[in-house]
Amino acid sequence: MRSPVQEYLDRLVEQIRPHDQGTNYQAVPSAASMDPSLFGLALTTVEGHCYAAGDADHTFSLQSISKAFTYGMALEDLGPERVQEKIDVEPSGDPFNEISLQAGTGRPDNPMINAGAIATTSLIKGRGGRDRIGRIVNTFSDAAGRELKVSESVFKAEDRSGHRNRALAWLLRSFGILETDPEPSVQDYFRQCSILVTAKDLSMMAATLANQGVNPATGERVFAPRVVRWVLSVMSTCGMYDDAGTWAIEIGLPAKSGVGGGLLVVVPGQMGVGVFSPPLDDHGTSVRGSLAIAQIAQDFGLHYGDVP
Ligand code: GLN
Repeated sequence: MRSPVQEYLDRLVEQIRPHDQGTNYQAVPSAASMDPSLFGLALTTVEGHCYAAGDADHTFSLQSISKAFTYGMALEDLGPERVQEKIDVEPSGDPFNEISLQAGTGRPDNPMINAGAIATTSLIKGRGGRDRIGRIVNTFSDAAGRELKVSESVFKAEDRSGHRNRALAWLLRSFGILETDPEPSVQDYFRQCSILVTAKDLSMMAATLANQGVNPATGERVFAPRVVRWVLSVMSTCGMYDDAGTWAIEIGLPAKSGVGGGLLVVVPGQMGVGVFSPPLDDHGTSVRGSLAIAQIAQDFGLHYGDVP
């Protein structure tokens, strides 16, 4: 017998799939040519139960969702004070790729916009026999509860087309926010964006954050509770860029979008939600992803302004 949660998710996928607005991410050929009707949804509770519907096993690139997890790594490695010297925690209200650096210091407003994310990646160093990207892939894999991999073809496409990100990295170098050659940092930023995941993986990564940093399926601690608190706060205010205010009103949950079509949403203490559908709105957020999360938040009364 199917559980009521499963029935609910199957129905939601059926209801939302006909919405066909939006455009696939164009910079990566494999994303641009993806079937725009793909739509997958997964929900993992803090007890580790996973429910999935639609194309929840279809792989796509993590893109900007990676920023939340590299930020967690930098906070773990250096502590919040040293990270904040380089990257602030204030919403910029700008699109993700805006050249928004603070006057005088060049400090990015937050780690969710590209400038802040590239600076964040530069703070992570190799350790314990692993280079930086090895550590990043390893930590993301711990959060997902399975071994994730960088797609070389997505990386090459990001690397070939990422002129604006390179320009941002060089600007950050000119201000001393990046302290060494920008090229390795920008390349590892492209690689972290190119890690392949499924909606199920996203839901487990989100559930790890919902569960105070412990992967609910493996029991492994990925982040300390104080780091999770910090990351979720910044996701709440900055995770959706120039749509963060509207998102706070309509959904009211910490979230992170990626141009690969993924959307990760955390319901602290309860569950993680992962959605995937390639067509994006003007903010670079999956159209069906937003619709699905809005519906789930409403149906379960999950908005942080709702009275339980
Ligand atoms: N790789 C993309 C970029 O750097 C990621 C952006 C995103 O997902 N919003 O432009």
